[in-house]
Amino acid sequence: MIKPPAKRRKPGPALLAWYDANRRDLPWRAQPGERADPYAVWLSEIMLQQTTVVTVKGYFENFLSRWPTVEALAAAPLEEVLAAWAGLGYYARARNLHACARKVANEHGGAFPDSEAALLALPGVGPYTAAAVASIAFDKPCAAVDGNVERVITRLYAIETPARQAKPLIREKVEALLPPARAGDFAQGLMDLGATVCTPRAPNCGACPWGADCAAFAARAQEAYPVKEKKAEKPKRRGAIFILRRGEETLLSRRPEKGLFGGMSAFPATPFTQDVAPEEQLDHAPCKAEWRALPEPVAHVFTHFALTATVFVGQAKEAPPLGANCRWAARRNLDREGLPTLMRKAALLAGLI
Ligand code: SF4
Repeated sequence: MIKPPAKRRKPGPALLAWYDANRRDLPWRAQPGERADPYAVWLSEIMLQQTTVVTVKGYFENFLSRWPTVEALAAAPLEEVLAAWAGLGYYARARNLHACARKVANEHGGAFPDSEAALLALPGVGPYTAAAVASIAFDKPCAAVDGNVERVITRLYAIETPARQAKPLIREKVEALLPPARAGDFAQGLMDLGATVCTPRAPNCGACPWGADCAAFAARAQEAYPVKEKKAEKPKRRGAIFILRRGEETLLSRRPEKGLFGGMSAFPATPFTQDVAPEEQLDHAPCKAEWRALPEPVAHVFTHFALTATVFVGQAKEAPPLGANCRWAARRNLDREGLPTLMRKAALLAGLI
């Protein structure tokens, strides 16, 4: 007798079944059928922000053995908490962790609130952490969306919008996938799927419970998602750098404290805050001289703009009137003047260093 085709499972139950068979054993996770400890869930989620599971394991176990409850952590001196945190980086997280423990101990009677909104009001708890704690510790149907989850969902639905703009849509999709029960296991299943199967490179689609429903897999375009945002091109500016020489010396000026190269020594130059066309550049020269433009410009990309600067070299015949911020520097010492990279490029081009 021919068997009827197996019924395709809905995505929520399919993920739960996969999770039951493949869940990672992590020290902060409750065993199947057991209730998770909200303190352990919160502590691990704070530690896991920008840190890997492997690194966090040791820290988590140390914290939990020293401060087994949120009240114990709240009563610990901040310095001790910071010292135990050393190596995890981002110390603001440790300060917030301590402040949060105090708030839970003093204002919530030592019990973490169980709603996403109340969790969000705690120090250091953002939308992802609030949703993760609410779902894992309290089984609330919340969509905890981090980078791993974004990757899985943008692939599953072949979402063409870059992930940053698509966040509300991704959240909606996760909410629509939530099964009627076991919200915490669903959240952890999604995390595990992103971490172990739907990896950034070479996802193991053959082992994925959503393989039959995945739009990116069907198109064999898994790695095209999440779509990367196109970086806006930086505005281009033109300018000039003036290298005035007097024998074996070169004119340097000290840049104003505020602004580009603040307080550093540099060759006089056009203001880099604006685009200065070639025909206007010599108007910004520090003095009258026979200026000669070098055949090649120097280029440099700053945070907010890309600069192409003509390098003019001039010989001072007589001592020109100098501004208070200018001085003559010996050529042999130029290398030790701590010139900004752009100015070093100009000095190299002029053969001074
Ligand atoms: Fe990710 Fe592949 Fe699963 Fe799609 S089928 S969700 S690309 S692992």
